[in-house]
Amino acid sequence: MINIAIDGPAGAGKSTVAKAVAKKFGFIYVDTGALYRSISVNALKHCIETTDTEKVIAMLPETNVELKYIDGTQRVFLNGEDVSEEIRLPEASMAASNVSAIPAVREFLLDLQRDMAKNHNVVMDGRDIGTVILPDAQYKFFLTASAEVRADRRYKELTEKGIEVDYNALLEEIVQRDYNDSHRETAPLRQAEDAILIDSSNLTLEESIEAIANKIKV
Ligand code: C5P
Repeated sequence: MINIAIDGPAGAGKSTVAKAVAKKFGFIYVDTGALYRSISVNALKHCIETTDTEKVIAMLPETNVELKYIDGTQRVFLNGEDVSEEIRLPEASMAASNVSAIPAVREFLLDLQRDMAKNHNVVMDGRDIGTVILPDAQYKFFLTASAEVRADRRYKELTEKGIEVDYNALLEEIVQRDYNDSHRETAPLRQAEDAILIDSSNLTLEESIEAIANKIKV
């Protein structure tokens, strides 16, 4: 199987780029952020603080997360319910960052991710795909952009969906989430030594997709 890992901070365009690359090569796109987001949504549904490690861990045995592909699009199911839209709400972002710092949560989601990569050609995006989940991936990329550019993109994305957000709050959240994600003890966000760095601050979407696709020989 061919595995392509794309890691990087929030809002760098990973999901859009990964989706396009997957489509180009006929691979499955696996959005691993959706997994952490669904764990956080489960906590929110049960009124569990996502910073309350013990309670989040106690919730895991009753948490079932599945990925399904409907018309080639990833859908995430939480205890049988399709939560693909709900996990995108802004409150799920920081909550996901909180639960993702808990080693037991990362362990809980490990096999699901590795099984996908074992059984399919995948483009998988996340924070620790090249470093922890798929250290032997044939292709690894680290896609980044300045915090301002990323906040700008997120702002446009959310307002286009009719979700009202404050730009400064968004920027602050991105900076905070970057900090959390890169400073946690378990599987922090970092570039794998053998990953190719792509800074998309001054690239169009098409240029970012090309920068990655050009490196892949299948
Ligand atoms: O990629 P996305 O913004 O949807 O991810 C939400 C949160 O999930 C991130 O801020 C990060 O804390 C966590 N995450 C992670 N490891 C991954 C993917 C996401 O820790 N592989």
